[in-house]
Amino acid sequence: MNSLTYFDYAATAPLCPQALEAMTQALAHFGNPSSRYAYGRQAAQAVQIHRGTVAQALGCTLGEVYFTSCGTEGDNWAIRKGVELGRRRGRHIITTAVEHAAVLETCRDLERQGYAVTCLAPDKAGRVTVEQLRSALRPDTALVSMMLVNNETGAILPVADCVRAVKAFDPAILFHCDAVQGFLKLPYTPVSTGADLITVSGHKVGGPKGVGALYIKKGVRLAPLLTGGGQEDGLRSGTEATAQIAGFAAACQAAMADTDRLERTAAIKQYTLDQLKTALPGLEIISPGDAPHICAVTLPGYPSEVLVRVLGDQGVCVSSGSACHKGKPSHVFAAMGLSRPWLSGALRLSFSPHTTREEADRLVEALQQASKTVFPTMS
Ligand code: PLP
Repeated sequence: MNSLTYFDYAATAPLCPQALEAMTQALAHFGNPSSRYAYGRQAAQAVQIHRGTVAQALGCTLGEVYFTSCGTEGDNWAIRKGVELGRRRGRHIITTAVEHAAVLETCRDLERQGYAVTCLAPDKAGRVTVEQLRSALRPDTALVSMMLVNNETGAILPVADCVRAVKAFDPAILFHCDAVQGFLKLPYTPVSTGADLITVSGHKVGGPKGVGALYIKKGVRLAPLLTGGGQEDGLRSGTEATAQIAGFAAACQAAMADTDRLERTAAIKQYTLDQLKTALPGLEIISPGDAPHICAVTLPGYPSEVLVRVLGDQGVCVSSGSACHKGKPSHVFAAMGLSRPWLSGALRLSFSPHTTREEADRLVEALQQASKTVFPTMS
């Protein structure tokens, strides 16, 4: 990563070499997949091959994958059109207080339009339980939206158990899962949870930004969010982003071929946490993260925004929470009931299978320095 020491893979990951190569090749073939001549047909065939690769990574069939422009689009599509589909059941949505803004803001918007939204509160570890979900179900519940892995704590939510509970209550209730942080990061595929609708995004897995996919289970008649030329089987209009799609698929392929990536990621995360605990006795672990690539720590009382900036000046990249918050305190940590000093000093660290011990040591050293020199009175 040049001179950067990068611990923000949950915000975005660098483009993997295989994705860059696939995108470069795809950019040279500029055909529009909708065109009827050979150049267009070749582009359409390539998109289908890439769809097959993403389907394999998701654990579904090729006909259940629809390319989108990002995870945010997938979440919006699934939730907005999912509730439309469930209109006859009612206007009640269940989600969790730890969802990404792409889900929470969409639910808030629907609330303004007259939907009732129940937000399940997490425990101190950032998890919700199947019992909480069961007791929130109502005769008018139309849709449940629950993420697979939380982007700030790395907590895994019990999606498969929750899908079973929801379907036992009423199979007509749609289950959407934002799997943006769980995709290719767990030893099972998102589709194995049984969810009806699943969102994933390219740039979290070594693919480019500006591409994602929505899994729509066979038989679920979701209406399009974007209407127009009728691409993606009429469900997602807009000329296919052929190069982004090629890069996304290549990144999925590369990850699937790297069979011990999860073990390596978990090992380097554990090493980093151990080193941090030894070097900074005041540091507390908010969440070690169930998923291999994310954890959250805090230096209670320290302003994490300043820590992030000071570390950043030294080329060490960490996050003070979700990169999407733009400086606001994390709603996830707040929902977990963290005390003010813990909230203030919260840092998210996220890892790749290629993160090295040298990088971990550099982070520890930089954080130790920052805590001593920038805030001498606190250490
Ligand atoms: N959902 C989760 C859990 C995320 O972490 C993110 C991005 O951080 C998104 C959705 C949005 O994905 P995108 O950046 O592709 O719009």
